[in-house]
Amino acid sequence: SGCWEPQYRVVLLGDPGVGKTSLANAFAGVQDSAPTRLSRCLAEVAYERTLSVDGEETTLLVIDAWEPERRESWHRSHCLQVGNAYVIVYSITDHGSFESASELRIQLRSMRQAEDIPIILVGNKSDLVRCREVSVEEGRACAMMFDCKFIETSAALQHNVAELFEGVVRQLRLRREGK
Ligand code: GDP
Repeated sequence: SGCWEPQYRVVLLGDPGVGKTSLANAFAGVQDSAPTRLSRCLAEVAYERTLSVDGEETTLLVIDAWEPERRESWHRSHCLQVGNAYVIVYSITDHGSFESASELRIQLRSMRQAEDIPIILVGNKSDLVRCREVSVEEGRACAMMFDCKFIETSAALQHNVAELFEGVVRQLRLRREGK
């Protein structure tokens, strides 16, 4: 059915330290204010904001709950199941985090095989030019291979953060209209 969803869940994935919380904070436009805690048992933290994109409003609930070191596989499965869209983050200063991003893309694909969910690959910390370990070309090629969108951001400088989440909204709408 052409079910219209007023709100979309966007899950942030990626290695610890790549900047997921910083991106979520930059998205929410807050520095230190306490985010909405949705579910105590999952320690799930979500940031809600309504964006006006191309003259239409859409509410995103950005979920920052990914803890790769957690043993309980149900937690990982939960994160991989609940998203309407995924933002897979790596740091351009950490090649290991870039490799993890590919693994996450593969996990996501195997868990959500039948669905065409938007996935955006994000190279964060683009301000740290002298510590760069992953080139823009490498990032773009990886995104192309894994059939997802790509953007480099700096949560620290708030560079491309708005563009990232506007891109998520556009990807979600494209799929909604395709249904
Ligand atoms: P998370 O573990 O993925 O949620 O990462 P955090 O958001 O906690 O960030 C880890 C560290 O990287 C913190 O010290 C942040 O201040 C720093 N950081 C995050 N994003 C950026 C960025 O775009 N540029 C720079 N220079 N530092 C960043």
